[in-house]
Amino acid sequence: MRPLTEQDIRGSFINCSKGEAKRLAVPRDLGERPWDDLDFLGWRDPGAPDRGYLVAEREGRPVGVALRFQPARRGLLQRSLCSLCLTTHPRGGVTLMTARKAGPAGREGNSVGVYMCTDLACSLYLRGKKVPENGTRFEESLTLEEQTARATAHLFAFIDKLYV
Ligand SMILES: [Zn+2]
Repeated sequence: MRPLTEQDIRGSFINCSKGEAKRLAVPRDLGERPWDDLDFLGWRDPGAPDRGYLVAEREGRPVGVALRFQPARRGLLQRSLCSLCLTTHPRGGVTLMTARKAGPAGREGNSVGVYMCTDLACSLYLRGKKVPENGTRFEESLTLEEQTARATAHLFAFIDKLYV
C-alpha cells in the first residue's frame, strides 16, 4: 500500500469521533513500516492493551477502523484461525476484535466482530515475512496475489458491515 502519514491516518477513521482520532496513538515508526508488503497497516495501542487500529487503502483513500480486543475466554479452542489471512495460531494468536459501527448505529452501541491475528500482521504472514509461532498456514494453491485479494475482500466486507 501507499505509505501513510500521521495526518492521513488521523483523518481516516470511520468509527470514532474526531477528538478520539486526534488523540489515539499513531505508530512513531511510520517511516520504517514495510509498506510494500502491507495490505493494511495495523497496530495496537501501547497505552491501552484492549485497543487496536487498522488503516486500509480503498479506492485510493485510507480507511481507518478503531478496534477493541475482546479478552480471551477460558475454554476457547486451543487453536484458531484468522478470518482475513487464514493463518492458524495457537491460543492467543487470534483475537476477536470488535469495531463500533460508523455513525448513529455506533453511537447507539452497535458493533461488529472479526477474528483476526492478534498482532494485526496478516499481510506479513501471507507473504511469508513473518512465521506464526507454533502456528501454520494452509498449503495454498492460490498465488500470493489471489491470497492478498481474498484477505482484502474479507477486510472490506468487514468494513462494509460497519456502515450497515
Ligand atoms: Zn491474519
